[in-house]
Amino acid sequence: MTARIPPGPRLLMERLEGAGHEAHLVGGRVRGLLRGAEPQDWDICTAAAPRETEACLAPLPILETGLRHGTVTALAEGRPYEITTYRADGPYSDGRRPDSVRFVTDLTQDLARRDFTVNAMALGLDGVLHDPFGGQVDLAAGVIRCVGDPDRRFQEDGLRLLRALRFSACLDFAIHPDTAAAIRRNLPMLDKVAAERVQAELRKLLLGSRATEVLREFPEVLCRFWPQLGPLVALEQHNPHHRYGGWEHTLHALAAAPAEEVVRLAVLLHDVGKPPCKTTDEAGIDHFYGHAAVSAQLADQMLRALKFDTRTRERVVTLVERHDAPIHPTEKSVRRWLGRLGEEAFFQLLEVKRCDNLGKGPGLGEDRLAALETLGAMARAAIAQGECFSLRDLAVNGRDVLAAGVPAGPQVGRVLAGLLDRVIVGALPNDRAALLAALEEERG
Ligand code: ATP
Ligand code: MG
Repeated sequence: MTARIPPGPRLLMERLEGAGHEAHLVGGRVRGLLRGAEPQDWDICTAAAPRETEACLAPLPILETGLRHGTVTALAEGRPYEITTYRADGPYSDGRRPDSVRFVTDLTQDLARRDFTVNAMALGLDGVLHDPFGGQVDLAAGVIRCVGDPDRRFQEDGLRLLRALRFSACLDFAIHPDTAAAIRRNLPMLDKVAAERVQAELRKLLLGSRATEVLREFPEVLCRFWPQLGPLVALEQHNPHHRYGGWEHTLHALAAAPAEEVVRLAVLLHDVGKPPCKTTDEAGIDHFYGHAAVSAQLADQMLRALKFDTRTRERVVTLVERHDAPIHPTEKSVRRWLGRLGEEAFFQLLEVKRCDNLGKGPGLGEDRLAALETLGAMARAAIAQGECFSLRDLAVNGRDVLAAGVPAGPQVGRVLAGLLDRVIVGALPNDRAALLAALEEERG
């Protein structure tokens, strides 16, 4: 197994060991080496105090970012590695971080403060695996289980609730029943976790191969920070186009989604506005008129609450807002949509629509899939022709419109939009002279 520790981390561990300080590989990489997967980063832990770590590693470049918490970041072979001093956490009184951190020299103490058994294994250069909490057995069985008493561990740090769900979704592991029960008992701990950290875990969770199953098992975890989801989880739909309730439909749609972040977020949130829009007609059939706009509003609110970046939020809101908008299979209509959304968002919208249809249940949405394929093919053909689609591509701009005598103000935008539409439908070429002539004509 040691042969697989590559030169970067090996160099750092050898330097530490050479100076008489124990050093081990820990965290995701140990899991990865044991099961052949490739996590992102390398975590190294050592008995050396942070200053000693720095001294051993000189003259390698060092970043002192987390020094107070015992973490030194060293660059080796051009990549950053986090080296953390063995520590035992003091009591946690705020449910977020320990009141104090004590550096220790005993590896087992350091492993005991780690969250799950599969994350509490350490590998030395000698190839010896330290596994005091049964991580290997849980790794082989595919189980996420807290180190020690799960209630206590979740009460120390509420982020661990979400980390459990995230590892379960990404590693395709089940959550041990005792750990699962403790998650359900400790939901209020999530209220203390910073929005950005919830967001980071949720993003990873949603991309996991088992995301759907985890959300089916633990909707209450998401509802804790997104109470807007509660009514969707409870929503029944008596409608010939749907086989499932609101949440089951959402999960079936999510199961069909590619591992693309904005598409998964949009699919997760596309129907969140259905409950307040529900009406039931005399025949007992439920309708949800106007729900896409309400879903978009709620999605905006929910993504803001978790402090998502503007780009992601705006894209997801657009996809949610348009998820049930009809796109006519004509060249003009497809070009107009491409102009309105841009290429990337247009194809993401087709994906969201595909998932929405697949989520309706066997035999219910499939007939629409061929139509979506056709729209995709039409868009690709239009793009291949190198047509002009957006205002940015138009051969004239606002300055030209002003120069033609249009008064500054909203009128400028309307004139440009009018020209763009004529170019999109082929009534005008995207040619500067032709567009300026059309402008003159309109003014005259
Ligand atoms: P990946 O890097 O693939 O996301 P990882 O297991 O390496 O997975 P990190 O977030 O990099 O996860 O953390 C490294 C290790 O630090 C974990 O394996 C775990 O042992 C410990 N750890 C991280 N966060 C916590 C936490 N909130 N509570 C307890 N231990 C934690
Ligand atoms: Mg890691």
